[in-house]
Amino acid sequence: MTKKQHVKKIVIVGGGTSGWMTAAALSNQFKNQAIEITLIESSQMGTIGVGEATIPTLRRFYSKLGFSDIDVLKATNATCKLGIEFKGWSGDNSSFIHPFGLFGQAVNHVPFHHYFHKLKLSGDNTPFANYSLGVNLAKDNKFFQPSLTPKNQLDIFDWALHFDAALFGKLMRDYSISNGVNLIDSKVYQVDLAKIDGAIETLHLENTEKITADLYIDCSGFRGLLIEQAMQTGYEDWSQYLVCDTAVAVQSELIHSPVPRTIAHAQKAGWQWQIPLQNRMGNGMVFSSKFIDKDEAMSTMLNNIEGKTYQEPRSFSFTPGRRKKAWNKNCIAIGLASGFLEPLESTSIALVETAIEKITQFLEEPEYGQEEADKFNYAMSQEYERVRDFIILHYKLNGRTDSPMWQYCRDLEVPQTLSDKMKAFKNNGELVRLPWEIFGNDSWLAIYDGLNFSPNSFDSRVDKFSNMFLKEQLNLMQAGIKSTVDNCQTHAEFLKQHCDFKG
Ligand SMILES: Cc1cc2nc3c(=O)[nH]c(=O)nc-3n(C[C@H](O)[C@H](O)[C@H](O)COP(=O)(O)OP(=O)(O)OC[C@H]3O[C@@H](n4cnc5c(N)ncnc54)[C@H](O)[C@@H]3O)c2cc1C
Repeated sequence: MTKKQHVKKIVIVGGGTSGWMTAAALSNQFKNQAIEITLIESSQMGTIGVGEATIPTLRRFYSKLGFSDIDVLKATNATCKLGIEFKGWSGDNSSFIHPFGLFGQAVNHVPFHHYFHKLKLSGDNTPFANYSLGVNLAKDNKFFQPSLTPKNQLDIFDWALHFDAALFGKLMRDYSISNGVNLIDSKVYQVDLAKIDGAIETLHLENTEKITADLYIDCSGFRGLLIEQAMQTGYEDWSQYLVCDTAVAVQSELIHSPVPRTIAHAQKAGWQWQIPLQNRMGNGMVFSSKFIDKDEAMSTMLNNIEGKTYQEPRSFSFTPGRRKKAWNKNCIAIGLASGFLEPLESTSIALVETAIEKITQFLEEPEYGQEEADKFNYAMSQEYERVRDFIILHYKLNGRTDSPMWQYCRDLEVPQTLSDKMKAFKNNGELVRLPWEIFGNDSWLAIYDGLNFSPNSFDSRVDKFSNMFLKEQLNLMQAGIKSTVDNCQTHAEFLKQHCDFKG
């Protein structure tokens, strides 16, 4: 790509979550410009049909399209998610919550955790979790929508959704079509590349149509129909760091009132998820096929499910990693076509959102060239790597002894970027934030603390406060959080008030 291209026609291949989110956002962005957007999907092939836990960025995504939280909760049978509960990652009876929110309150601009660690190093054993409103709401199955003008840091938490992926796809689809997106239901069976530069020239459809565009967006899922099968862009394989490569999943009856948190329960050679919706439970097990076979993983998952299952379990194989160039010539891959990291921190849809956000910015002109493609590829590679490191951290710090997989993960040589962060934290509690991180410092703190990785020292500015003074301050923080949680409605009450939840 040498000269700038004018974009008058965009074709999106794939009608899964990523395809319809892309169509919705682009049709919203360019509704007053003469840009034609077409989405090609194959109803015969279907979508992946999983991907139901999100992070708070999703709420920002749909609010830009004009949807309120309550609109989406109702339309997708969704429940509220305050974070993820990790059960068993330090041994069978262990548990901690990674909340979407802060821990404690800074004093004199020194981050809270340094005060906490000073007390901890002098023998105080109050759990770190006691200083997080998000954790305590999640633990007690309470929920309220956070204030847009919090009184102080102790009031700051965020939330996301557990939703029905098919219903969310439908919401995005209806929105896109009402915004003028053309839909073609047919299978792309051939992709022609230009002889001169290898860019995409024509898509051949089974309904005999031949489609051309100025820009092609590949949302065709793991197969990467355009970006890989046709253009052979290449894939960076991260299996050396992330050993899980298979998942099984099934939906089941909802037995208990839905909790406002995802459960990620460590098992012999992987972990099992529970994602509660208003009307059913989503279950799945992610595991390493090198350490356990599919039948054993499947029976572990099914044995752990209360209530009847709704269909035959499905299985998925994947290679953790990312496409070497998500934007190659006139093709941009989004969603599973651009890469995949296991769903431990529910990041795939978030990476779809960040890709869409960048594309809409680049296309604002609307023309693009190699410079935009290079910037996009750099940013996406960084975001993937930062998420990769965060997920590896969970495995690296595990405390399980029930299968060689967990020992393998503890012994793993992690990427330099991660080992530098861990060293800085171990030394004196320093939290290194790299550009393009999706997860902030408090998320890292939640995992460090939850998996018993404590610093040897703390910021020396804390030394000027006596332990007695600090203890008083920290007790006040705990009391404030407890009082907020005690006086708050349950998650089930919130859903009953705003949705058709009978629960
Ligand atoms: C086990 C598992 C659990 C997951 N859990 C989460 C989670 O909790 N949170 C999260 O954020 N993400 C999760 N994900 C990821 C999430 O499912 C995906 O990121 C999301 O669904 C987007 O998928 P997609 O749209 O890219 O692909 P798909 O859903 O696979 O859609 C591909 C589309 O392309 C179409 N297509 C393919 N080939 C052709 C062709 N030749 N012609 C025409 N159309 C074609 C298909 O018909 C389909 O419409 C999970 C993934 C897996 C595997």
